[in-house]
Amino acid sequence: MSSSEDESMSEVDEQEEQEKKTKSEGSVLDYIMSLESVPSKLPPHLDLMRTRVFCNNDAPDHTETIQYSGAYAALGVDNSIRLDKFCRNFKVQVNRLTEDDIEFDMMGIDPALANAFRRILIAEVPTMAIERVYIANNTSVIQDEVLSHRLGLIPIKADPRLFEYPENAGNDKNEKNTIVFKLHVQCEKGHPRITVKSNELKWLPDGSELPAEDVKPNSGSKPRTFTSFSCSQDSLPEFSTNPIAPKNLDIILAKLGPGQEIELETHAVKGIGKTHAKWSPVATAWYRMLPEVVLLKEVKDELAEELKNKCPVGVFDIEDIEKGRRRATVANPRACTLCRECIRGGKEWEDRVSLRRVKDHFIFNVESTGSLPPEVLFTEAVKILEEKCERVITELS
Ligand code: SF4
Repeated sequence: MSSSEDESMSEVDEQEEQEKKTKSEGSVLDYIMSLESVPSKLPPHLDLMRTRVFCNNDAPDHTETIQYSGAYAALGVDNSIRLDKFCRNFKVQVNRLTEDDIEFDMMGIDPALANAFRRILIAEVPTMAIERVYIANNTSVIQDEVLSHRLGLIPIKADPRLFEYPENAGNDKNEKNTIVFKLHVQCEKGHPRITVKSNELKWLPDGSELPAEDVKPNSGSKPRTFTSFSCSQDSLPEFSTNPIAPKNLDIILAKLGPGQEIELETHAVKGIGKTHAKWSPVATAWYRMLPEVVLLKEVKDELAEELKNKCPVGVFDIEDIEKGRRRATVANPRACTLCRECIRGGKEWEDRVSLRRVKDHFIFNVESTGSLPPEVLFTEAVKILEEKCERVITELS
């Protein structure tokens, strides 16, 4: 046999040896992992700490979320954030939906993300709100600046997605970035006092009617106004069947005595709540973690009755067991407000009842001010977060 043949034989032997070694190492690892004493998931007490907030009598405990991917590596548990895991676990369930508010459960999401949606809803989803007020006459007792502020806070029923931000158009106030309303109310002398409400705001689809410059008598030409609309807004298909108006028509703006008058024009523009609260599209946007009420011991007879009576919102109920005895059950944990009444009255009550919150299950409530339906507001918030993520990816790449 030649020396080159000798070398190739020894290489093949080495390869086979290596494969055998890897195989035996793999089977040893499989064997170790299959041993009962080697955990493949977190022990129950650690799992509870990871997934629940404990609401103790004095203060909540385990409020943090553990983000580090290798936090449980020693126990063979992967704690990394993975897209496939998120897609598997994430769920949304709508519980209540009306014209103005929505309640839904959002499950399998990190508290930081749930809070991002809440903050975007309050401060970054745009709406239309009155920004400029041109007062021609105000002889009422309410000052111009107070009246302007009240007008700014009136929710406008107009889809902000159909408008542009005014900054994009420079000084040009056109039909794509401005909505004009006028208000002219007078209380005649000798008549009783009148209340001016938001229903007095009349939409001007053709733009401003107030002259922006001194009108020369007998000049003949039409004076320049505060806007330059190229077409009437009510000729646009979006508004022809859905005229723009304040969302609520009974908001009190001022009271006028006999002989008093208010004449003004207002311009509403697109903006976000981060600039001023008047542009915030929500009256409230809040969430709470799903409550979990657990009886650690059986609570029977008089104690069961006492526990049921302790809870002001009816979380507990009583069921009959054998021989005329009764025991407490948790009938409606979702109603728990975390008042902690059930664990007050001594250490023994803390040993009987455990109050917890599920860290990745949020009961979300959104109440719209009226510019967009609440379910649309939430989808707009999702789009804004998506845009932010895309911006970050672009900056990093
Ligand atoms: S914390 Fe308050 S609301 Fe919740 S179960 Fe106890 S008593 Fe009822």
